[in-house]
Amino acid sequence: MKNIFDTIFFTEIFQGLGVTLKHMFKKPVTVKYPYEESPIYKFRGIHYMNVDERGVSKCVGCYLCEKVCPAECIHIETDAGPNGERLVRKFEIDLSRCIYCGFCEEACPKDAIHMSDRYDTVDSTRDNYIINMRYMVENRKNVKGE
Ligand code: SF4
Ligand code: SF4
Repeated sequence: MKNIFDTIFFTEIFQGLGVTLKHMFKKPVTVKYPYEESPIYKFRGIHYMNVDERGVSKCVGCYLCEKVCPAECIHIETDAGPNGERLVRKFEIDLSRCIYCGFCEEACPKDAIHMSDRYDTVDSTRDNYIINMRYMVENRKNVKGE
């Protein structure tokens, strides 16, 4: 009997329309990415490098982050400075291999390398996934609160 009633009066269609109408006036739970970005909390994204008061990277080329990286995607080269210190000649991270574990950030004794909340890593070539020191210093400006 119920099936005949439903068939004649299309009750299921009206029930469906009722659900649609109910949700039409609710606040959307999605965003129009990439035109809008959703707020991210507690997210490890593309690295940035802290600088000292002179605006120079705090990295002292100790290699600890390179050693601790499980993906082996950090590559550092240094030269000897005039006072025996290490001068960072090359500092690169291959983001296509990075697993965003944050070990590099934890290992750094100079509070130099950090993870930002930037997650837009999409690019068309592998080479563009390799970021260097200059990129990371610039990326610091994209971090909220900086
Ligand atoms: S986040 Fe992890 S995988 Fe990525 S560079 Fe740092 S240590 Fe390596
Ligand atoms: S651990 Fe920190 S100071 Fe050492 S090489 Fe890495 S970023 Fe530089």
